[in-house]
Amino acid sequence: MSDTVDCAIIGAGVVGLAIARRMAKAGREVVILEAETAFGTQTSARNSEVIHAGIYYEPGSMKAKLCVPGRKALYLYCAEHAVKHEQIGKIVVACEEAQVASMHKYMAQAVANGVDDLRLLTTQELHEMEPNVRAAAGFYSPSTGIIDSHGLMLSYLGEAEAHGAALALASPVLGGQVSNQGIRLEVGGAETMTIDCRTVINAAGLRAPDVARSIRGIPLDSIPPAYYAIGHYYTLSGPSPFNHLVYPVTRQDWLGVHVTIDLGHQVKFGPDFEWIDRIDYRFDETREASFYEAIRRYYPGLPDGTLQPGYTGIRPRITGPGEPVQDFTFSGVREHGVEGLLNLFGIESPGLTSSLAIADHVASLLNAQ
Ligand SMILES: Cc1cc2nc3c(=O)[nH]c(=O)nc-3n(C[C@H](O)[C@H](O)[C@H](O)COP(=O)(O)OP(=O)(O)OC[C@H]3O[C@@H](n4cnc5c(N)ncnc54)[C@H](O)[C@@H]3O)c2cc1C
Repeated sequence: MSDTVDCAIIGAGVVGLAIARRMAKAGREVVILEAETAFGTQTSARNSEVIHAGIYYEPGSMKAKLCVPGRKALYLYCAEHAVKHEQIGKIVVACEEAQVASMHKYMAQAVANGVDDLRLLTTQELHEMEPNVRAAAGFYSPSTGIIDSHGLMLSYLGEAEAHGAALALASPVLGGQVSNQGIRLEVGGAETMTIDCRTVINAAGLRAPDVARSIRGIPLDSIPPAYYAIGHYYTLSGPSPFNHLVYPVTRQDWLGVHVTIDLGHQVKFGPDFEWIDRIDYRFDETREASFYEAIRRYYPGLPDGTLQPGYTGIRPRITGPGEPVQDFTFSGVREHGVEGLLNLFGIESPGLTSSLAIADHVASLLNAQ
């Protein structure tokens, strides 16, 4: 069987769905091809569900440029579309004196990124806001929040479908071919079919480099390698001892074992960071001791026996161990020479926060082709 569509989006995670909404609202005929039997079951369902303020990203990077407007757009979107969220605020803490300089570096970087509401806390304020947290210093980020990511995806999908988009579940893209007429995709599922597309947006997350490599005619040197870094979350039994999210200052390539509170006020700690060589979400319970140790650096009162294994998520990286952390990467005609094709690589955190801004950026890149 074969078909033709104007615009195919590969992957129904939060990014693919945000793009589908954006393109469908612009009047494009959109088909979303999703390998799994439901949308949003991969990285978009396995993250911290935090609306990030825009603190951690290199000024001038795509992450910085898309997080701040993405966050503002997301709060408006949630309010207008009744997506559950809460602007709960976050405290970033330096657990030891030696980390205070790094904490100030974060603050300066945030200001350069346009985050204009951070407030340095006195020891007294810190204690009043988070009596259970021990820290040498801290600052407050009032525009950090939490969100129901599934509700957000449902809303994006609903709007996309209301504007004519179709979601094809259990429809993995197996490969394809670039030609003068456009891009032909081979799609598996109950019945294998080919689809001729004018535009293809590869938003396959962890699999985006594999999907790009499977489409003949895309120069292989334009496709980065895929690396995976797993993160575990433990949940805390009992009521929350925290009033805000709490993030310790840590190394530059991840955000440390931080405190997230979900919309049901359940506390979770994580994610940790470890390189793995394939996509495998299994939870490694031997990490418990290292979690107790990391958490007690800022929450010394953590009682024994209160951490429960939660879930894991895998960061879609395109640079590996020892290399500088990648930026969000949009690979279009300028990078690979194929009209109508856009590959999205390395859309790790803050991809959820930035999803609306990523969709706008994708639309502008395609319009410029
Ligand atoms: C541990 C962790 C914590 C995070 N925390 C936050 C946070 O608090 N705040 C924040 O803003 N961001 C966070 N992020 C980042 C955020 O979760 C991601 O940027 C975002 O979910 C990426 O969405 P996506 O649509 O690109 O990918 P995905 O959600 O992975 O979607 C890709 C989709 O493509 C499909 N697919 C794959 N291959 C094929 C194929 N061949 N054919 C068809 N479909 C295919 C997959 O099944 C999947 O549904 C976190 C990420 C991780 C890993």
